[in-house]
Amino acid sequence: MKRVLITGGAGFLGSHLCDRFIKEGYHVIAMDNLITGDLRNIEHLFKLPNFEFYHHDVSKFIHVPGELDYILHFASPASPIDYLKIPIQTLKVGSLGIHNCLGLARVKNARVLIASTSEVYGDPNVHPQPEEYWGNVNPVGPRGVYDEAKRFQEAITMAYHTYHGLETRIVRIFNTYGPRMRLNDGRVLPAFIGQALRGEDLTVFGDGSQTRSFCYVDDLVEGIYRLLLSDYAQPVNIGNPVEITIKQFGEEIIKLTGTSQKLILKPLPVDDPKQRQPDITKAKAILGWEPKVSREEGLKITYDYFKSLPEEELYAAAY
Ligand code: NAD
Ligand code: UDP
Repeated sequence: MKRVLITGGAGFLGSHLCDRFIKEGYHVIAMDNLITGDLRNIEHLFKLPNFEFYHHDVSKFIHVPGELDYILHFASPASPIDYLKIPIQTLKVGSLGIHNCLGLARVKNARVLIASTSEVYGDPNVHPQPEEYWGNVNPVGPRGVYDEAKRFQEAITMAYHTYHGLETRIVRIFNTYGPRMRLNDGRVLPAFIGQALRGEDLTVFGDGSQTRSFCYVDDLVEGIYRLLLSDYAQPVNIGNPVEITIKQFGEEIIKLTGTSQKLILKPLPVDDPKQRQPDITKAKAILGWEPKVSREEGLKITYDYFKSLPEEELYAAAY
């Protein structure tokens, strides 16, 4: 049985990856310090003999007994309000955390896949964004703690590949959504759905003309799984290229939820990227991958998930 370590395994994406690797017959070790994660995301796996959970901060020395075939480094605060609240931990997990993972990988002779992000492109001047684009990041702006940590993470991963011959993979993830997102993580989808369910107006930042391209979590997980098993060490964008303005997205959520609330405008956060759309030519060619789940379908599943949460949680998420 192949053994995989998933850091950030109790988070949104990490927990879906745990499910996928369990389904594929792996022994899965999830490691998480629960700073933005939730054990409820993985509690259904605790009874399985091929699942283990380590409560540990990845930015500190990592010890895992036994062999490891793969390490997936997903630990990191990921939403703008999370990484603005905990900027130093964000920088540490993207630097010390990945250094520990790479060191562990050398000892275990494991392949490492890192969760990078479309944020390495910053507020992009090239549209859509291909992997060759170097980005437009403000290192000292509020988002710099996340963007630069992820850029460093790519650089050190590539250095271990080049200088130590370590097997590495880099996925640049574009905005992904689905069940197990936290209602209060501040990202636009849980924010809008939470507001609609509480009967509040939906807060559009700026004039809502900025764009994003939303990928359903199952599509992302499929892309990551294929990349891990591929022999391609350069970065690969995984995301859904269907682009939408935030204003249109708000209107879609109003329609989906049937709320009688309206969109209200709030100030645009500093350095908020104006447009974002993945160029997935590489993922198509190298991995034979492209997204399958439409936004309509994915949003319906995600809305049903949020509706099923206890009411206290819904109101605790108001901010
Ligand atoms: P999340 O906050 O739900 O998950 C992150 C997990 O990492 C949490 O469980 C958290 O407790 C854990 N963690 C954070 N710091 C840690 C540390 N020092 N030690 C151990 N565990 C730690 O966020 P997510 O959306 O699931 O994101 C997962 C990864 O994917 C992140 O690396 C993020 O940067 C990347 N990513 C996500 C998206 C997206 O749209 N969801 C987009 C681009 C990149
Ligand atoms: N956004 C918004 N209202 C909210 C939360 C976010 O209009 O309540 C906007 C935000 O300014 C950004 C877009 O939605 O332009 C996506 O934000 P999110 O935090 O989900 O992801 P990111 O900015 O990291 O892509």
